[in-house]
Amino acid sequence: MLQNMSTAFIRTLREDPADAEVPSHKLLVRAGYIRRTAPGIYTWLPLGLRTLRKIETVVREEMDAMGGQEVHFPALLPADPYKATNRWAEYGPTLFTLNDRKGGDYLLAPTHEEMFTLLVKDMYSSYKDLPLCLYQIQTKYRDEARPRAGLIRGREFVMKDSYSFDMDDDALEVSYRKHRDTYQRIFTRLGLDHVIVNAMAGAMGGSHSEEFLFPSPIGEDTFVKSDAGYAANAEAVTTVVPEPRDASNEPPMRLVDTPNTPTIDSLVALLNERYPREDGRDWEAADTLKHLVFALIHPDGERELLVVGIPGDRDADMKRLEASVAPCEVEMATDKDFETHPELIRGYIGTSAIGPNSPLRTIDENGEAIGSVRYLVDPRVVEGTSWVTGGDESLKHAIHVVMGRDFQVDGTIEAAEVREGDPAPDGSGPLHLARGIEIGHIFALGRKYAESLGLTVLDENGKSRVVTMGSYGVGVSRVMAALAEANHDDNGLCWPINVAPFHVQVLATGKKDDVFTAAQELSVLLDSMGIEVLYDDRRKVSAGVKFADSELLGVPFTVVVGRDFECDGTVEIRDRRSGERTIVPFEEASETVRDLVKNALSEVANR
Ligand code: ATP
Ligand code: MG
Repeated sequence: MLQNMSTAFIRTLREDPADAEVPSHKLLVRAGYIRRTAPGIYTWLPLGLRTLRKIETVVREEMDAMGGQEVHFPALLPADPYKATNRWAEYGPTLFTLNDRKGGDYLLAPTHEEMFTLLVKDMYSSYKDLPLCLYQIQTKYRDEARPRAGLIRGREFVMKDSYSFDMDDDALEVSYRKHRDTYQRIFTRLGLDHVIVNAMAGAMGGSHSEEFLFPSPIGEDTFVKSDAGYAANAEAVTTVVPEPRDASNEPPMRLVDTPNTPTIDSLVALLNERYPREDGRDWEAADTLKHLVFALIHPDGERELLVVGIPGDRDADMKRLEASVAPCEVEMATDKDFETHPELIRGYIGTSAIGPNSPLRTIDENGEAIGSVRYLVDPRVVEGTSWVTGGDESLKHAIHVVMGRDFQVDGTIEAAEVREGDPAPDGSGPLHLARGIEIGHIFALGRKYAESLGLTVLDENGKSRVVTMGSYGVGVSRVMAALAEANHDDNGLCWPINVAPFHVQVLATGKKDDVFTAAQELSVLLDSMGIEVLYDDRRKVSAGVKFADSELLGVPFTVVVGRDFECDGTVEIRDRRSGERTIVPFEEASETVRDLVKNALSEVANR
């Protein structure tokens, strides 16, 4: 492969695009790999497409090696299968939906569980056909609420999705482990650092799942690790629940005046000044229970208010809350929400106006609690714990409010932030926090999809059995952004050789014809050796611009044919990553470069 720069469909930019905040987004646009078409939607330019294809090749080779068989589904799909599993509703506004000319409902698929399930149902009927693993590398559509960071969160993106089909749980576990191992090999071959963490199954349903995260400060996921090996997405961390407390010595609940206390800190200060604790210790933020009001939007569009009680020394974590209430969406309650619930005194919400404590609460004919706003608390709010809460009256708070004695709740919810040093749920010590980008996700789905779509096969005894499934995704286009995050410096990209769009860039600098003739000759020779060459043959472009472009593009090796060649017949070989420069006679250049490329390729192949 030999591409001349003078005719290449590449335009580099000196300035960062205005909407780009993270390095991968800036550099992929500036170096001419991708171009924005609409928010979260990108056009693949020749350089970008070459890199994407190479990432796909690594994924494809590993999927084939584990016995996966590749298929390819349309992105445009009929709605019925998604209605049958209820995901048509559960995906909510994230689903891109459309109508055909006859008014039929269609969607652009966000993921393909339904279609794979139906395909196997269509073609297979016996236990003898299983296990089976099918995969595709295909374009997905999600109308993300916050598309960001270029390829990292797109509304159109490339995913490798695979699906396993097995007779029983043990066999599913084997398929799951095989995928887990395959993903480790894929990310290792790509040289991408990764951490495997427990995850929430989310809208996908199913029993257990793990995520592969690329650790990065720009990641949207927070994950935790304990020194003894526990690792989880913060969304999936369950709070260690304290033992119930004996509150028999706790003073009675009491309403106190608390003017000018807009913050927890000011409230705590006022309490210590005016209402010191009987036991001699100071009031602390952790003694307070703040009541946050959220609106849940159910998949059917119903809006429900929810009060969440969180210890005052912690913030709410919206992602943990979202994961806890999925498939509902959640937002802060609005002024209008408060107008429809005058019993909620803003800033002073206590326990008496909400949940089971409210006089508005009744039970309907279906046995469901109605009337008052649902009230869920952090799992640390156990029987016998004592809190400072709002007083359900303006400018008042209640102190010594004891769970079980003075109030009841509708349940608990994981909505509070996880903090550095919190105990790991498995008892393996304090947790450390870091951020990461989710590059892969594996789910042991179980029978949810097979059941709702009727995927059964006959077992050895001729009895009909529901198939059990797994579903597994790699964000291929997101992986390209993660690789750019991991492989760049101030001057541009610097790709690992197995995903770089070219192996070598040959630069002809200066004005002399014989320099260009020699550079051309070298490029042709390298091409004939099977090396992918981008030859910067541009006349009237300064050496400075050529060097800058070459660093921006991030091709692993650069050969400069220029002034040295004219003086003493040598060329310079530069290693983009190490910055190392080697001078060799022109006659030796092709073989030296060939060896460098071959060594680099075999090094990554043996990782
Ligand atoms: P996220 O939590 O980041 O929204 P997800 O859990 O919804 O992702 P999955 O349904 O597990 O994503 O999809 C499988 C993989 O596809 C993810 O691990 C991720 O790498 C990739 N992916 C998901 N959403 C996007 C997106 N909007 N843009 C690019 N890649 C994505
Ligand atoms: Mg996921």
